[in-house]
Amino acid sequence: MLEIKDVNVSYGNVQVLWNLSMHVKDREALAILGANGAGKTSLLRTISGLNVPTSGEIRFQGENIVGVEPYKITQMGIAHVPEGRSLFPNMSVGENLVLGGNLSTPQQRAQTLEWVLSLFPKLEERYKQSAGSLSGGEQQMVALGRALMLKPKLLLLDEPSTGLAPIMLPVIFNAIESIKDEGLTVVVVEQHVQEAFKHVERAYIIENGRITIEGLPKDLENNPEVRRAYLGID
Ligand code: ATP
Repeated sequence: MLEIKDVNVSYGNVQVLWNLSMHVKDREALAILGANGAGKTSLLRTISGLNVPTSGEIRFQGENIVGVEPYKITQMGIAHVPEGRSLFPNMSVGENLVLGGNLSTPQQRAQTLEWVLSLFPKLEERYKQSAGSLSGGEQQMVALGRALMLKPKLLLLDEPSTGLAPIMLPVIFNAIESIKDEGLTVVVVEQHVQEAFKHVERAYIIENGRITIEGLPKDLENNPEVRRAYLGID
C-alpha cells in the first residue's frame, strides 16, 4: 500500500535519509528500528508530508504523495501519532478524541467515536477526565484513539512506548494488535526491539539514514548483528 523509492531528505545542508527504499503491505504491522538519531522520526515525518524529500518517490495506494500537503495526506488515509503524543492535557479525554475527528461530519464522528471507545473501553471509563491526569499508558491510548478518529488506512506510530514503564509495553502492543484486527496497516517506530518482534510481521533497521537490514522477526532474531546491536545478546 506504501512504496518508498530512493528517497533523500535533508534538514538544510544536513542530509538525514539517503536513497531510502522500503514498502509496506496492506494490513501488515511493520516495525522501524534503529539507534537514536538514525532517522526513524524523519522517515515517518516524510511519509506524512511534514518533511519533503529532495528526491525520490513515495506512493500511497498508487498515488504519488511527494509534495502533497500534510492535511491532504491525512485525508487520503495516513494518520501519524508523534512521539510525545501531543495531547491537550487540560482537555478531557473525550474532547481530545473528538478533535481527531474534525474532518468528518458530526454523524460520522459519533459513529467513529463509538468504534474507538469499543476498541479501547478504558477510554470510555476515563472519558470526562482531563487527559493530563491519566497514566502514561492511558495517554498513549488517547493518542492512538485520536488518530483512529480519522479512520485512517495506515497508522504511523512514533515510539508509542516512550516514557512508559516496561510493564506497559504489552498494553501498547495489545492495542496495536486490536488496531490491526480492524484491518488497518500499522508502521511502528520502536526502541523495544524484543517486544516489537512479538507483534510485527516484518521489520526494517535504519542506520545513519539508510536501511541496512530488512526481514521477518524470526530471521532478524537470529541475525548476529541484530542480536548484538539491538537485542544485547552476544
Ligand atoms: P530518536 O530515536 O532519537 O528520535 P530518530 O532515529 O528518530 O532518533 P531523527 O529524529 O529522525 O532520528 O533524526 C535524524 C537526524 O536528523 C539526527 O541526526 C538529528 O539530529 C537530525 N535532525 C532531526 N530533526 C532535525 C531538524 N529539525 N533540524 C536539523 N536536524 C534534525
